[in-house]
Amino acid sequence: MKQHETTPFWETKTLEALNPQEWEMLCDGCGLCCLNRLQDEEDDQAPIYLTRVACQCYDLEAGQCSDYANRFEKVEGCMRLTVERVAEYDWLPETCAYRRIYEGKSLPAWHPLITKDRHSVRPHGMYALNPVLDNDFIDLEEHIVEDFDH
Ligand code: SF4
Ligand code: SF4
Repeated sequence: MKQHETTPFWETKTLEALNPQEWEMLCDGCGLCCLNRLQDEEDDQAPIYLTRVACQCYDLEAGQCSDYANRFEKVEGCMRLTVERVAEYDWLPETCAYRRIYEGKSLPAWHPLITKDRHSVRPHGMYALNPVLDNDFIDLEEHIVEDFDH
């Protein structure tokens, strides 16, 4: 008997309907949300500039957070992504899988859930920007990314 193919969860479910495991699996691992962003402190309407400076906790070699389980204790400002925050964070890249599902879009063909290769995201994520790791002496303004249309 031919087995029925089930439609993948990311094509049928809303963000609200994802279980915790599906929620974690949805992340494409692009790392773009782990890059520092700059905004005028006194004007929350001011533009937000993306930099190529990765969070100090990011493991550039492994291509992932170096301490995901303890990330909120380790890094002030690291926030848990929730449905409400996906709606609120308009700085999330257009490729962000959460943003795409929230907007009713499909995942890109290079998403690791589709390719079954977690490295297929690399040319589309932070590695396309030649990232550097944050440190106490880095000047973020010198690392603003001018032309990245993600
Ligand atoms: S931008 Fe979105 S898809 Fe990319 S790492 Fe962050 S949460 Fe995951
Ligand atoms: S603590 Fe980890 S998940 Fe949070 S911004 Fe830094 S590298 Fe990314």
